[in-house]
Amino acid sequence: MWKFHMFLPVRLRTIPVTAGEGDTPLRQVRSYPRLRNIWVKDETRNPSGTFKDRGASLAVTRLSQLRIRKLVLSSEGNAGCSFALYSQMAGISCHVYLPSDANRSKVELSKKLGAHVTKVKGTISDAGQHAAKAAEETGAYNASTFVTPFRHDGKGTMALEICQQRGWESPDYIVYPVGGGVGLVGMWKMFKILYRLGWIRKRPRIIAVQPTGCAPLVDAYNKEKLEVPEWKSSNTIAKGLKIPKPLAGTWILKSLRESRGLALKVSDREIHRAMLNVAKRDGLLVEPSSAAAFAAVPKIYEIGGIDAKDSVVVIATGSGLKTLEQF
Ligand SMILES: *Cc1c(COP(=O)(O)O)cnc(C)c1O
Repeated sequence: MWKFHMFLPVRLRTIPVTAGEGDTPLRQVRSYPRLRNIWVKDETRNPSGTFKDRGASLAVTRLSQLRIRKLVLSSEGNAGCSFALYSQMAGISCHVYLPSDANRSKVELSKKLGAHVTKVKGTISDAGQHAAKAAEETGAYNASTFVTPFRHDGKGTMALEICQQRGWESPDYIVYPVGGGVGLVGMWKMFKILYRLGWIRKRPRIIAVQPTGCAPLVDAYNKEKLEVPEWKSSNTIAKGLKIPKPLAGTWILKSLRESRGLALKVSDREIHRAMLNVAKRDGLLVEPSSAAAFAAVPKIYEIGGIDAKDSVVVIATGSGLKTLEQF
């Protein structure tokens, strides 16, 4: 990922805090026999098994340059693991606030990687309040989603890699499972930069996917709202997408509109089936939050406007190895 340092908010000759994140494979998917132009950007290959590592590598690199010694964040689990990993490498103390229903392996891994972990009753929003309070009281840096500006550009490097891997040509569509929207906003920013530089001739349309049990963005986008109202009583097996009120809602909607994107929902049952299907047919082990994007693939052709020949890149955001209890 760091070969693209000139696209990132770091000084020249920065020595990154890196564990070999990024540079992940882009390969063809076989799970849909009648669709031949579906590709997966396999982010499960990252050091802690998710694309969160990209954001954490960039953020921790910047925070160590700023001589920050302590950080806190709220997380559904994966961001906690990523920040634990990179903080430990940089000698920064890391405190993760997780909702109490977080996957056990994610809690354990964060602890094994040296983080302090506090489980909070309620949703990620409650965990977020605890993190913000802790930051205020202790002077720790709050590295939560979109509280810090250093995560979306890291995830944006996926867009750079996808275009490079396709010979500097954008795919027609990107299918992305949206939680806090860090990856969506970050990738769209990079696609726009590449387009303006003249490195790509077109930009992709982004397809945002959320579970039916927590789909604040999909509803807001399809009702042409400019802000995202809070989703009441969220419930889904895709815990990484259980974000009832994304902080950057307006930016996500703006990115989607600019890309002439689409937004759709998938049920937990479809998510589970897609998870088993890509494991069996493509040897791709993803967690439910990531499987949501695959569950959406057959549906995008029903919505219309998409041709079976169009190139579609699905982001496989996270490995299923941390969520085996959900298989
Ligand atoms: C965090 C996460 C998401 C959502 O990503 P955002 O960039 O916050 O929208 C999707 N899938 C997995 C596996 C995640 O960990």
